[in-house]
Amino acid sequence: MQFDREARLLVVAAHPDDEVLGCGGTMAKAIDRGAKVAVCFLGEGISARFPFGEYDSEEFRKQSATRIEGAKMALNYLGVSDITFNFERKACQFDTIPLITLVKEIESHIERLRPTILFTHHLCDVNVDHGITYKAVETACRATGKYNPKEIYTFEIVCSSHWGFQSTFQPNTFVDISDTWEKKLNAWHHYKGENKRFPFPRSDTGLETLSQFRGMAVGLPKVEAFQLVRKIV
Ligand SMILES: [Zn+2]
Repeated sequence: MQFDREARLLVVAAHPDDEVLGCGGTMAKAIDRGAKVAVCFLGEGISARFPFGEYDSEEFRKQSATRIEGAKMALNYLGVSDITFNFERKACQFDTIPLITLVKEIESHIERLRPTILFTHHLCDVNVDHGITYKAVETACRATGKYNPKEIYTFEIVCSSHWGFQSTFQPNTFVDISDTWEKKLNAWHHYKGENKRFPFPRSDTGLETLSQFRGMAVGLPKVEAFQLVRKIV
């Protein structure tokens, strides 16, 4: 995983906040070294907390606005300026839409940005949208002769990647985020209301514990862990 002025990272995330949880420290590190980073959100992230189909309340609009604002502030803080939202696509309902719509959307971003490195979700996350995002990326990156990212990694999302009955996320790539840990945490704090008390995983202690736990595998104090799913040399 090379970060320099030639590197172009594309993060394909299901929901705003996944990008910071999955690779916030890595994005900050890449940007520090001159890489370009773009983030594409395939859906919004709050509707699952409301009764199914009831998305016209004042509270829904308020929470939606807070989430968009949080994403913009977090990514602006990290130095990401290329951000694409899709707030029409409801959270935890990607299984109700044709996969091809996601595939075409991702293909258009790959064609536009020609990323050298792509990050996305792991197939077996508990959140249904995460697994479908993985399948859409897999389809968008099929070898049909058009441009393909040289490296594709999946990231882990606290809660979703670890609450499954049988987790299959097996990291084999580790990015030292000791220098950018504070940035990741500060970016995460822009998502107002998402940080809960430990032992909830999405807490300061939860995020730090995961980064340290993964770090122990490679002798580093804090890392973000990824699973390389394809690399073209
Ligand atoms: Zn998510």
